[in-house]
Amino acid sequence: MTEKPKVRVRFAPSPTGYLHIGNLRSALFSYLYARHTQGSFILRIEDTDRARLVEDAVDYVKENLLWLGLNWDEGIEKGGEHGPYVQSERLNLYAEHAEALVEQGKAYRDYTSSQRLEGLRQHAQKAKQPFKFTKDMAQLEPDHKDDPFVIRFEIKPGPNVIWNDAVWGEQTWKRKVLDDFVALKSDGFPTYNFAVVVDDHLMEISHVLRGQEFLSTTPKNILVYEAFDWQIPQFVHLPPVLGPDKSKLSKRHGAKSALEYRDAGYLSEAVFNYLASLGFNDGTTQEIYTPAELAKVFNLGRIQASPAIFDPDRLDWMNGVHIRQMTTKQLLVRSAEFWPPEAKKFDEAYRLKVLELIKERLKYFAEIPELTSFFFTDPKLNIKPDSQPMLLKVVNKLEDSDFSEKDLENRLRALVAAEDLKTGQVFGIIRLAVTGKTAAPGLFETLHVLGKETSLRRLRHAAGA
Ligand code: GLU
Repeated sequence: MTEKPKVRVRFAPSPTGYLHIGNLRSALFSYLYARHTQGSFILRIEDTDRARLVEDAVDYVKENLLWLGLNWDEGIEKGGEHGPYVQSERLNLYAEHAEALVEQGKAYRDYTSSQRLEGLRQHAQKAKQPFKFTKDMAQLEPDHKDDPFVIRFEIKPGPNVIWNDAVWGEQTWKRKVLDDFVALKSDGFPTYNFAVVVDDHLMEISHVLRGQEFLSTTPKNILVYEAFDWQIPQFVHLPPVLGPDKSKLSKRHGAKSALEYRDAGYLSEAVFNYLASLGFNDGTTQEIYTPAELAKVFNLGRIQASPAIFDPDRLDWMNGVHIRQMTTKQLLVRSAEFWPPEAKKFDEAYRLKVLELIKERLKYFAEIPELTSFFFTDPKLNIKPDSQPMLLKVVNKLEDSDFSEKDLENRLRALVAAEDLKTGQVFGIIRLAVTGKTAAPGLFETLHVLGKETSLRRLRHAAGA
């Protein structure tokens, strides 16, 4: 029996400063496929476009991936450090491979100056022709020794480029529209189209999962594979992620980077779950998954080709579900850094009770200070003077209560009945007096957790007593 070749996938971001949802989703699908197949997930930094580099962007990428739990498998290059592959550290490999193609007559040195290139471009524009560089336009010899040159990959005449995309099915792209593209620039850096093939081959990548926007670069990639007589990987072009209005997703739609979700107190496993749902479903109605469950059910056949729609409300809902799947104790640990500073003066048992009360409504941890501050500090309020006599009656009624929820409820309902008042109104005023808010968790639970001393102090203060 022949052993099935191992699945090797990669995430290959360019360090340009921001990882949008679509990028993260590509990383996540690659990771899931690697885990599903017990293959390898590789991180490769594509930093050959020097003009677009952003400082610290590599650290930013790593931090995003690590927070989501997308741990990459290899790339241990520098003294045992668990780092990614970095293209700018591999320049000699691209040069060697480009030179090899020149030797074989599949690529050529082109000394065309940038001015002449610009002239050719403008000429095509004036003639309303698409600009397409071919070998007959190239300057194949230098004017002076040491003149700079690029190495261009030559598109030879031949059949259309055909491949079978895992998401898009059979693709047929016209070879004749492709131009002789630059493989190696005059500064010795490769272009994306060349480096991606050399690296995917050398890293033995079996499946290329990437955004749909790279579909149009695939014919060039394939011709490079063919020129080297290398095996072509399975291409898997992922659907775009759009905003709810079907336009290109942006911050305006509430989309954030993984780290911004972390900072707003989303659970990484919920963001993981949500990203996995953007363009994938396992064919059942299940919506909530752990990362391990997703790795189990993930498969390429169920990636959809239609655009995925990013819906921030659905993410909030999903985060809430993950929150409520945890025990309150776990939740307290996970949310520790989001509590208001005053909370530290109270013991854990009290914070657990508070969390238990707000857990039901909690969407993400950054809401915790707003939802809980009154449990730790007396609210500042303005109670209308005409409510004060009623509040005084409440104080009297509760003075000898044991402050169990049941007793609080019995006493307050009895008071409302005896005085012939409206329940909603009275409870609203009490709530305002003890919490400073018009909406809060259930009144009896809130009073119970706040305790007798605090509740009565606040009620007396509000009553002007
Ligand atoms: N460096 C490309 C990017 O920034 C990756 C394209 C690919 O995965 O082939 O999106």
